[in-house]
Amino acid sequence: MKKDIALRLTPQEASDEKFYKPLVAKKMKVSPDKITAIRVRKRSIDARQRQVMVQLYLDVYVNSPAPDPEKTVFEYQDVSSKPEVIVIGAGPGGLFTALRLIELGYKPIVLERGKSISDRKKDIALLNRNHPVNPESNYAFGEGGAGTFSDGKLYTRSTKRGDFKKILNVLHFHGAQDDILIDSHPHIGTDKLPGVIKSMRESIINSGGEVLFNSCVSDLLIEDAQVKGVVLKDCAKIYGVAVVLATGHSARDVYEMLHQKSIEVEAKTWAMGVRVEHPQELIDQIQYHNPEGRGPYLPAASYSFSCQIEDRGVYSFCMCPGGFIVPAMTGENEMVVNGMSPSKRNSPFANSGMVVEIRPEDIPAEFKKYGVLAGLEYQKEVERLCFINGGNNLVAPAQRLTDFVDSKLSFDLPETSYVPGAIASPLHFVLPEGISKRLQGGFKQFGKWAKGFIDPEAIVMGTESRTSSPVRIPRDPVSMQHKQIKGLFPCGEGAGYAGGIASSAIDGERCAEAVARMIGGQ
Ligand code: FAD
Repeated sequence: MKKDIALRLTPQEASDEKFYKPLVAKKMKVSPDKITAIRVRKRSIDARQRQVMVQLYLDVYVNSPAPDPEKTVFEYQDVSSKPEVIVIGAGPGGLFTALRLIELGYKPIVLERGKSISDRKKDIALLNRNHPVNPESNYAFGEGGAGTFSDGKLYTRSTKRGDFKKILNVLHFHGAQDDILIDSHPHIGTDKLPGVIKSMRESIINSGGEVLFNSCVSDLLIEDAQVKGVVLKDCAKIYGVAVVLATGHSARDVYEMLHQKSIEVEAKTWAMGVRVEHPQELIDQIQYHNPEGRGPYLPAASYSFSCQIEDRGVYSFCMCPGGFIVPAMTGENEMVVNGMSPSKRNSPFANSGMVVEIRPEDIPAEFKKYGVLAGLEYQKEVERLCFINGGNNLVAPAQRLTDFVDSKLSFDLPETSYVPGAIASPLHFVLPEGISKRLQGGFKQFGKWAKGFIDPEAIVMGTESRTSSPVRIPRDPVSMQHKQIKGLFPCGEGAGYAGGIASSAIDGERCAEAVARMIGGQ
């Protein structure tokens, strides 16, 4: 007999079957020795009340053998002689497009401007030693895209839970830990992501697909408003029956190429701000309402804040508990920060983006001459200002959070996880007023909700500018093809149709399905 049981437990009770098995037996009114297996189906933490509780949803087997733990197996067919579809970019959008194309019987040719994970790791190591950024191999470009060296949070606002479950299953099949199938807020961690991504690449290649690194697409081959293929930077031409454009939000040259070719791109709302970092212990104390912190049974605490200040959203973004701030720029004269965490989320720091919504009409007048690319140029300018204020290298301009909120220069800075280092800078003044004033208002509001959040040991760093793209590549909602160019499928975050790993992956799967519909003449 199998029974579904829901239990609300203390963190210690929920930490091990040896603690909760007697409670399950009591609730089911059976003897513990009759229980043959307990499988956790879902797990979530409820930290709203002073006593933090853990909600467990369990499958309990009584007097009957339990099946093996669930593992969805994907069998990818041989597509080596099938029609070829070009996928530009090996981020979550591109990789999930490629795997879904294989399921549907098409051969993906994935073109990635950056390097394979193992070679990319070397460039990331150099970057953290304050070497100049390699514009083709960094935290945004290379195998796995922007999602590889990240926290690997897997959230989505997609209302289709089936789509999300499939993404989790694909990641699990390729080596992600069992917990991602159970936790209400799953995450993989930057130590595990490279192995998962490499395994996805192997699935593509073993099925007859191709993944080509150091292959930057610089142009599209178009005839009679239909895409026929692509041109690489080394002038090589590659042809395909369709082209999926999954180049992410940092490929500014791609937007510029499209714009120059009069292929429509449009301005959209995005967000920019700072990254804030606290001692993790402080966030644990605040979020778990306990001066002792998280104790032995709870994970590093996270937070999510959002409010409106002067008619614009101010919100936390990509919070990384137990993580590190990383240099996420892709070119010279740019200062960009982001965050990542290992699977155990065990660094002593908690960081998060804190950003302000920016609408096209908020962009200063001097950028208007760039038309639909004005947001891109404004984004570049803020990154350049932060680069100069950091001292023209990878050192980040920074301020104590308390000083930022009070518009004061910091005389010294707290410890930070950001390896290239930080230098005191008046960020409240360096950032455009529309951003810094709203951030100050937002921080004050968050400090009211989370007492202790505005702490002198917290640091803010500039700039968190790559939250999403200021530009969208418009596509037809049904065919998913570019409104002007048949066979061109804008995909993922760079196209403006996703934000984050999971939603980019879902969008990749949908683009592959749309490609199949087009080829099938539907
Ligand atoms: P990308 O991942 O940006 O991939 C695009 C790929 O295209 C890149 O590999 C790039 O090299 C390649 N490319 C670009 N131009 C060309 C060209 N011309 N020719 C060939 N290839 C090209 N999201 C989450 O959901 N959870 C997180 O925890 C999280 N943490 C993050 C941490 C960091 C440090 C960063 C930078 C981002 C993080 N994100 C996180 C965001 C997430 O990584 C992105 O939303 C996601 O990767 C977008 O997927 P994508 O495939 O659309 O684009």
